[in-house]
Amino acid sequence: MVVLDGKETSAKIRAELAEQVKALKAEGGKVPHLAAILVGEDGASRTYVNAKVRDCEEVGFGSTLIKLPAETTQEELLKAINKLNNDEDIDGYIVQLPLPKHIDETAVLMAVDPKKDVDGFHPQNVGRMTLGLPTYIPATPMGIVELLRRYEVPTEGKDCVVIGRSHIVGSPMSILLSQHNYPGNCTVTLCHSRTKNLEEICRKADIIVAALGRPGFVTADMVKEGACVIDVGITRVDDATKKSGFRLLGDVDFDAVAPKCSFITPVPGGVGPMTRAALMMNTMKVTELGQA
Ligand code: NAP
Repeated sequence: MVVLDGKETSAKIRAELAEQVKALKAEGGKVPHLAAILVGEDGASRTYVNAKVRDCEEVGFGSTLIKLPAETTQEELLKAINKLNNDEDIDGYIVQLPLPKHIDETAVLMAVDPKKDVDGFHPQNVGRMTLGLPTYIPATPMGIVELLRRYEVPTEGKDCVVIGRSHIVGSPMSILLSQHNYPGNCTVTLCHSRTKNLEEICRKADIIVAALGRPGFVTADMVKEGACVIDVGITRVDDATKKSGFRLLGDVDFDAVAPKCSFITPVPGGVGPMTRAALMMNTMKVTELGQA
């Protein structure tokens, strides 16, 4: 059994990108500048955005963090987005999700200039991804694909089950793994809360991607011997023994499932760091894709 180490792999990716930025600077090229908009005070969102800014610094990208209060109206947020769309120094940006309830997330994501949409959430970029055209791929599925590639996990002809059909994880994951390239060429089953016989479907899978947000949902009896299991879930549970006051739980019962696997990702240290690395990889692509 091989543990797919997202922490180590993401550190390698950041080091590679830092080298590319150095070379770009030496040639006198424009170094990518990433901006992030954070609305409100959600603790997890703040942690994620701060980590993205730190990653930019490590890689050598420019970064700008725009913090807006929780009471920001949709109109004010759209104005901030419009400003970034027209700011020539900003090559790409993200709007950290989730947004406060009074803001229409779809309207906001539609307002992002597709050429600066490094999260790959704009319908134009989702369409390009679906057609296999060059574009920004949503960071979590892209990070998973990159991890599979770097560990040379076999995917061709494999039966893959993705649990969860969100627009940011499950759905794009199912599309990428069914595409006509590596990692891909899987036969994909996309499961969700209305799926019947989910346990039985999982037991037949060579690859399971668990992205539902239910701690320990995937148990050993649902996993075939030799399967590859990717755990996307991150659920914060209170833990007074931790300095942070919480610990992170994945969707897979790691201790029981790992002995049956050929490959498995841990939580933390698996998909999470790869998601951050994928955002940096997308940001590196801004010059190329910003002109597409
Ligand atoms: P989401 O939008 O809440 O979607 C959850 C999906 O799981 C939905 O499609 C839902 O089905 C399905 N589901 C829920 N309960 C189920 C059940 N009992 N059986 C089968 N399917 C079930 O969540 P998300 O944004 O995709 O995130 C999923 C998890 O990944 C969360 O823990 C999140 O924190 C984590 N995450 C991690 C990263 C990372 O970097 N590691 C990034 C993003 C998200 P319906 O569609 O029928 O409701």
